[in-house]
Amino acid sequence: MPDETTPHPFQARSLAAQAMGRIEPVTRAVVAPLHVSTTFLRDPDNGYASGFSYARPDNATVREAEAVIAMLEEARAGAMLFGSGMAAATAVFTALEPGDHVVAPLVMYWALKRWLREEMPRRHIAIDFVPMDDLDALRAALRPGTTKLVWIETPGNPLWTVTDIAAAARLAHAAGARLAVDSTAASPIHTRPLTLGADIVMHSATKILNGHSDVVAGVLAGAEADAFWSRLGTIRAGGGAILGPFEAYLLMRSLRTLHLRAAAQSASAAELARRLESHPAVSAVLYPGLPDDPGHAVAARQMDGGFGFMLSIRIAAGEQAAIAAAARVRLWKRATSLGGVESLIEHRASVEGPGSPCPPDLLRLSVGIEAVDDLFGDLDAALRGDDTPDRQ
Ligand SMILES: *Cc1c(COP(=O)(O)O)cnc(C)c1O
Repeated sequence: MPDETTPHPFQARSLAAQAMGRIEPVTRAVVAPLHVSTTFLRDPDNGYASGFSYARPDNATVREAEAVIAMLEEARAGAMLFGSGMAAATAVFTALEPGDHVVAPLVMYWALKRWLREEMPRRHIAIDFVPMDDLDALRAALRPGTTKLVWIETPGNPLWTVTDIAAAARLAHAAGARLAVDSTAASPIHTRPLTLGADIVMHSATKILNGHSDVVAGVLAGAEADAFWSRLGTIRAGGGAILGPFEAYLLMRSLRTLHLRAAAQSASAAELARRLESHPAVSAVLYPGLPDDPGHAVAARQMDGGFGFMLSIRIAAGEQAAIAAAARVRLWKRATSLGGVESLIEHRASVEGPGSPCPPDLLRLSVGIEAVDDLFGDLDAALRGDDTPDRQ
């Protein structure tokens, strides 16, 4: 794991732009090489002086991308890349013991919630889902000494509810539990949960960290290199869940432009939220950047440089009108996922199915880097029911 404890003289965006500024010693290349070897020569004295012996536990290209993410998250323990966001998230729950108790949010990434519902009982781990924007609900759910993990997601997909990270960390720690944060929708550009008291940050790096919809990856970043953190490393190595080198290389290339992409996407999301608020076809805009959003005050405290690239709208005429509007867009792409440079629209209830807290009239919007007037114009025409085949 790279040592990230020494203070850096430069700002995060400067270090990320140069992928930490490392120069490859043999050729003096400014781009780190892609290490594909699965095996490494053993020394005559039977050791491995390089520290590398086999590619399942460790890879030099993966380490390069991990160093950038650890720097961005201010993660003293470093970062660990996994083959997907789900592999990273499920490693944290796999590290728990039978008899432990977990508190997780009602509003969270749907596939992870489904996995928790199915897998936690089989592992004899009790789990309660609570509204995490209500700290009293979290406090009431904690079982001091037995609750070992509080998992939060902020802003929470797909309603973009905001959880107070610092307050949740205080409550979790007072009960003897760790706080883990799914920070995918915030990105390290807007929120650094470890600096607010969280113990572990998780990202689906498939989303804005990679940002080009061509890599599936996940990452954990840790506050302390304690026994729990090393157990996560053991789980990744033993389970063979490390990210592949090609994906790590693409991810590192993307991290160089993360600051520019996040700033542009977040500015466009804020502009669209403002313009959609007064749209006659829209009954509600869910975006923590709006001053009257219930999560705005907390978001303004714990997010900077914007409120993220995700928002949802509710369609006044109901579910069928929402599905029909999504069918009419030309520029927006009707697809799942989020955080890419191309804007995506999704009727989320169709994905989440029964039991989801997602209202059926909701459209989820992931805002990319296209011209914001084009994005608004296309959505406006779709919402007004304009079916003209050649409309611009
Ligand atoms: C996509 C996503 C995940 C899962 O990540 P994968 O890379 O698809 O496995 C987890 N949490 C959030 C908030 C996500 O958007």
